[in-house]
Amino acid sequence: MADISAARTGRRLFGEPRVEEAGPGVHVARAFDLGNVIKIATREGPVIVDTASARASAAAARDALAEASPGEPRYVVYTHCHNDHTSGAVALVADATAEVVAHAALPALTERDHGCLGAWTARHRAHQRGRPSEDPFPDRGYVPPTTTFERELDIEVGGLTLHLEHTEGETRDHLLVWVPETRVLLPGDLVYPAFPNLSTPAVGPRPIPGWIRSIERFLELGAEHLVPSHGPPVSGAEAVTEVLTTYRDAIQHVWDAALRAIDEGVEVNEAARSIRLPERLRAHPWLREVYGTVNWGVRAVYDLVTGWYDLSPASLDPHPRARRDAAIVEVASADRLVERATAALEDDDPQLALELADVVLRTDPHHVGANRVTADACRRLRDRSTSINQRGFYHSGLVRARERLAAAGAAP
Ligand SMILES: [Zn+2]
Repeated sequence: MADISAARTGRRLFGEPRVEEAGPGVHVARAFDLGNVIKIATREGPVIVDTASARASAAAARDALAEASPGEPRYVVYTHCHNDHTSGAVALVADATAEVVAHAALPALTERDHGCLGAWTARHRAHQRGRPSEDPFPDRGYVPPTTTFERELDIEVGGLTLHLEHTEGETRDHLLVWVPETRVLLPGDLVYPAFPNLSTPAVGPRPIPGWIRSIERFLELGAEHLVPSHGPPVSGAEAVTEVLTTYRDAIQHVWDAALRAIDEGVEVNEAARSIRLPERLRAHPWLREVYGTVNWGVRAVYDLVTGWYDLSPASLDPHPRARRDAAIVEVASADRLVERATAALEDDDPQLALELADVVLRTDPHHVGANRVTADACRRLRDRSTSINQRGFYHSGLVRARERLAAAGAAP
């Protein structure tokens, strides 16, 4: 059940579910789900920003928020189209809700992810969660927006201004919420206590220069309170500026370093493994690689600016992988490849082991030795990963290899 799973993930990452005061009249329901549900009180009723990833966890957040900040929401705002911000809306939109508000690009992006690319989205999200056979969205309660805007929108409600502004980064439909009267800034998913996920491996690269511009826009606003859609709120102008500046510097560093590497002709895999944040940034509590990673960020820059051709003519119109790998197996033999992969495991190079086993599996998906190597390599890589997404992908690889071994009647 997604509600239980979303709640479990929230608790694992952020501790016990609770409501925290995040600024004047602003409360945030934390750890009910992966994402926060934020409630802003006004004299004419509250505003909800972001709705969690499932009906059940959104309902739990709603009930907990009602004690600290009563009233049905006048407005519900989505900071962007991702499932963990939109899929609990059914539990939060009420009779008193005048509008559900989003950027104009949200409906089309949602339709793409859950419509024409619905099977692909479900597949890669299931892999990312480490449960490759489960439906990642079983408790979805999305409500389409009733009002959208392109550049900016001011909503006057109960003595406050909700200034919404298009600020791309995490997605192309992302927006900020700024309340000038109380100097409260909601940056959505453009700032959270982890190195930003500049690229998710199974999704196209995110607009990184736009992300940097968005954070510069946040800095211009001079917020006193920063209330992100994941992680803890930050109060005090100095503390807010420090978090935003550090975050901006980290993204800028990866962008600049990757551009230099591209220009010097460094291969993407080498650049992704060698580019690091400077020590000052690496040690910052808001930049730990527990979600996005610098490695994936570097790949995103390559994807954004170089396209898919690496100037090696073999890459211009390659055969399907299985054909090339069958020729390699023909020469080297599956057994010798698995032997070499096993030696790589003994040398503590699970990545090389995985790559060699993959050559065999492309020609014979049920090869017992190659599946055993794959399972072992995935387990080691999973256990070394700090990023929750990376752990999920490796765990899915392990699950799949074990399934194939079980189908072959072989011990893992
Ligand atoms: Zn999110």
